[in-house]
Amino acid sequence: MTFTIAIDGPAAAGKGTISKAVAAHYGFGHLDTGLLYRAVGKRMLDGTEPVAAARALVAEDLEVDGLRTPEVAQAASKVATIPEVRAALVDFQRAYARRAGGAVLDGRDIGTVICPEAEAKLFVTASPEVRARRRFDELCGKGVETDYETVLAETRERDHRDATRADAPLRPAEDALLLDTSALDIAAAVAAAIAAVDARR
Ligand code: C5P
Repeated sequence: MTFTIAIDGPAAAGKGTISKAVAAHYGFGHLDTGLLYRAVGKRMLDGTEPVAAARALVAEDLEVDGLRTPEVAQAASKVATIPEVRAALVDFQRAYARRAGGAVLDGRDIGTVICPEAEAKLFVTASPEVRARRRFDELCGKGVETDYETVLAETRERDHRDATRADAPLRPAEDALLLDTSALDIAAAVAAAIAAVDARR
């Protein structure tokens, strides 16, 4: 059995949490595709040319420490504007999407470019202020020293870069269900996502 659930949306909208919960609910695998770009972004910060880094990427690279920092997030969104980097990462994502037993992929272009044929598509969003607040709380919880205004500015900068790039910009697929999590807690957002997927099964 193959079944692909595509979950796209901007940073800190709740995609990751929702994707993990949806994958667990159905017993599907989950691929956080942002990690691919983060792994390439981290390699770039370490001095490797990004296209070469993307072509050499292997699954184990997604497990390395230090991919979740704000610096790596910004580097990821920069390498993600390079068409050759995106092209190098397509096959890995498509193979995962068609794995036996079902798959949830979350990212920016899953429903539009990577898996336009996905059986279920969600576009998860929330206001920039709500997303920046969530990311700020998460960073504080990890002991990272920052302030809300900086996180909000970084969120807007990354949104802008992701939505305006020429290749695979962030946008909802025409047949995606829009899920605004600004006023939803995690349980309500997950329930809404599962209801949307159930409607496609
Ligand atoms: O989702 P996450 O914040 O980890 O993604 C990091 C960056 O990787 C994003 O800001 C975006 O530029 C890029 N990305 C992408 N396409 C995806 C997933 C992530 O361009 N499918």
